[in-house]
Amino acid sequence: MTTVAVNELFVSIQGESSRQGYPCFFIRLAGCNLRCRYCDTPYARENGGDTMDIASIVQACRETDTPLITITGGEPLAQPGFGHLANALLELPSRTVLVETNGSYDISAIPEQAITIMDIKCPGSGEADAMDTANPERLRAHDEVKFVLNDRADYSFALDALRRFRLTERCRHILFAPAAGKLDPKLLSQWLIADRPPVRLQLQWHRLLGVR
Ligand code: SF4
Repeated sequence: MTTVAVNELFVSIQGESSRQGYPCFFIRLAGCNLRCRYCDTPYARENGGDTMDIASIVQACRETDTPLITITGGEPLAQPGFGHLANALLELPSRTVLVETNGSYDISAIPEQAITIMDIKCPGSGEADAMDTANPERLRAHDEVKFVLNDRADYSFALDALRRFRLTERCRHILFAPAAGKLDPKLLSQWLIADRPPVRLQLQWHRLLGVR
């Protein structure tokens, strides 16, 4: 019986990615190998979580009957049972599975039918060196890349990474998100209006709505 360590299972509005606004079943796995300065889920990072068998998680997902599923963390790819979990969820009919990952593990471990939302960590996170630099080449057309920005230096880093990794040729959506409490979203929007890069401003809708 394959198991994973789960921090929480819940239904909410997906506040990030190109799927913003859709009701979503979240599977938040416990534990993370990084320590980003702006981490908004330290409880999932530090807490060992509850061991759950994959059949129980799939059953919980089936019961909530939401078309969108997000596996998040913590860092999902840090868990050996991740692949079993993702494949089991993909067997459910009429579901879209998103996987949010911090970009430090080989994303080839994510099944092809799932949609990867991969971070590229900027210097302001304190974890930019943790990136698996081969990951951009592993992106599939339906995947998405997210930069969380603390300041102008992170913004410049992200624009450079966009060109260096030829991200717009590799995947559909590039997301620029202001780190909560660090970068004014309005200021970021002004930079985007001035420079017009082919990226999408991402605000965390669940925070704006005051939901989980
Ligand atoms: S990768 Fe995510 S969960 Fe891990 S420390 Fe960074 S923000 Fe927190």
